[in-house]
Amino acid sequence: MNQNLRINGERLLSRLAEMAQIGATEKGGVCRVALSDEDKVGRDLFIEWCQAANCDIAVDQIGNIFARRNGSNEDSPAILTGSHLDSQPTGGKFDGVYGVLAALEVLETLNDHDITTIHPLEIVSWTNEEGARFAPGLTGSGVYTGVFDLEEAYACVDKDGFILGEELLRIGYAGIAAPGGRSIKAALEIHIEQGPILEEEGIPIGVVHGVQGMYWYDLVFEGQEAHAGTTPMERRKDPVAAAVSVIEKIYQLNDIYAPQGRATFGDFIVEPGSRNTVPGKLTVTLDYRHPEEAVLRTVDSEVRSIVDAESETRRIKGWVDEIWYMPPVTFSAECIAAVQHAADQLGYPSREMVSGAGHDAMYLAQVAPTGMIFIPCDNGLSHNELENAQSEDLIAGGNVLLHAILELANPQVN
Ligand SMILES: [Zn+2]
Repeated sequence: MNQNLRINGERLLSRLAEMAQIGATEKGGVCRVALSDEDKVGRDLFIEWCQAANCDIAVDQIGNIFARRNGSNEDSPAILTGSHLDSQPTGGKFDGVYGVLAALEVLETLNDHDITTIHPLEIVSWTNEEGARFAPGLTGSGVYTGVFDLEEAYACVDKDGFILGEELLRIGYAGIAAPGGRSIKAALEIHIEQGPILEEEGIPIGVVHGVQGMYWYDLVFEGQEAHAGTTPMERRKDPVAAAVSVIEKIYQLNDIYAPQGRATFGDFIVEPGSRNTVPGKLTVTLDYRHPEEAVLRTVDSEVRSIVDAESETRRIKGWVDEIWYMPPVTFSAECIAAVQHAADQLGYPSREMVSGAGHDAMYLAQVAPTGMIFIPCDNGLSHNELENAQSEDLIAGGNVLLHAILELANPQVN
């Protein structure tokens, strides 16, 4: 029966190694940024492998690639699985590409054993997940799900002045299908964790229950420029003094929501930025993340009150500009259960997780029941040429993906 079915680990590893040669860097990483010549070669190779596995290929107008394996009921919605083939400029061999090639390996394993599923299976490779060349990222899944407008995505320009839409045409991946609207029963994305938890705990499988939400803010403090030598402290309207208290209080606030809450003050813009002048203005960026929407909402109103109160105490003007809000994503119970059953049935230790990073699955969850699987990566390192994952974990993840898909696709044995 299918319970004993396993992927061909050697084939998966050798394909990962072959794909890693496209755009290979000296330090052992990969540079295959979106819509580059290397991206085209990687896409071509992926399609060649999919065609050899008897898949039908479709490319949509934003360059997302879908490789379909028919089900016994072609009127039923598909099980979609995949990730992305583009990389950071100094990226690793597994971020994204593992999710695409593990999906291909699952389909090939089913081919090898003549297993037909009721639901069709589709592998997807999304365009420009990384956003390294064309910002922001998640372009393909964002356009597919209607978060981004197609024409606006086409108009995106990289730092050398190249336009996304033209680059897509140049590499031959501006397809004809309108993005979106495929009939999807469930979607799964497998990915390296890109963090340290699984490795630290010695657990091979992360059952991802959702993606944490985040706020991006500018905290702006406006005081009065003054001479550093002649202005007595009590007469100053010093935006730095207000910001220091605000930051301290936000750290204290976040202690209430530890360990899940994460507050990062990543950039400080001081104006005019002169050593012997009390600054007139200070802008501090705040990136705040937490998996629960209620907590994010509370923190949002607390941050605003803290800024108001401290600005008043320091006799300056202070306010909060909201730059971006991404609500937390909760994945589908059916997908989470399928991943959990697969890990249990295969005897792999697993744990529940919330993704700290954004993924294509985050957008896809808006239009289809979606789930994710994580596997450990060495030292939690990613977006780094030294990114690495252990063979046994790569294979374990592939097996979990295989069995989760079999459950979702309701298999029949010929
Ligand atoms: Zn990725």
